Amino acid sequence: MNFYILTLFPEMVEHALNASIIGRAKEKGILHIEAVNIRDYTKDKHQKTDDYPYGGGAGMVMQAQPIYDAYLALAEKIGYRPRTIYATPQGPSFTQKMAKEFAKEEHLIILCGHYEGVDERVLEEIVTDHVSIGDYVLTGGELPAMVMTDAISRMVPGVLTNEASGSLESFEGNLLEHPQYSRPYEWNGKKVPDVLLSGDHRKIESWRREQSILRTKKRRPDLLKKADLTIKEKAEHQVND
Ligand code: SAM
Repeated sequence: MNFYILTLFPEMVEHALNASIIGRAKEKGILHIEAVNIRDYTKDKHQKTDDYPYGGGAGMVMQAQPIYDAYLALAEKIGYRPRTIYATPQGPSFTQKMAKEFAKEEHLIILCGHYEGVDERVLEEIVTDHVSIGDYVLTGGELPAMVMTDAISRMVPGVLTNEASGSLESFEGNLLEHPQYSRPYEWNGKKVPDVLLSGDHRKIESWRREQSILRTKKRRPDLLKKADLTIKEKAEHQVND
């Protein structure tokens, strides 16, 4: 999968996505992540990419021309106009479901705004999806682009070496994952639940499922209402449709 992150601060993005699982997937050629410097496309003789907002007000607005030209150069290289996300606090919040959906694209552009934002006219021309990473305002779209790139990348086949670890974790079926334990058996006076040492896989699965439901009920009751539960589980945990 190919990511193109349109930004005024490419160095922020380039260094962050080189380590660990994402770094290895890049080395293997499963992922290609390219930070495109919007400033390289400005036609302004002073290399300017922003200007004052029409109508007055604080801050600067990123101008349409350099963003549009950077986008067109990418679309030409790719051969079509790919799906293009604008990282913005004004979109729906990013979810695991969206990560899976975006992971089906072969090419994906993410536009990072800065300052007061971006001239609306270029957004109208190129953006297919407005996506936020939460109800708070950051200084720029670079961190959101990295968050989304990381979460989407994990859903690309071959990126996680153990494919199963992507399919059983939190948000699958709207449940949070069960608690995890590793060695030693006893730490700080606390022992690992005995069932996990029983070797009985059916018992372990049913314990994990139960823990998942209990944890979701306690920490994210809003999710539990949407969870894929059996009739028996709904009755046991008093979840109404
Ligand atoms: N004036 C804008 C507003 O009120 O909607 C906020 C601009 S913000 C300071 C600058 C840039 O950061 C935005 O253009 C966007 O790309 C990015 N950004 C800030 N918060 C974000 C969030 N929660 N999710 C995604 N992108 C965000």
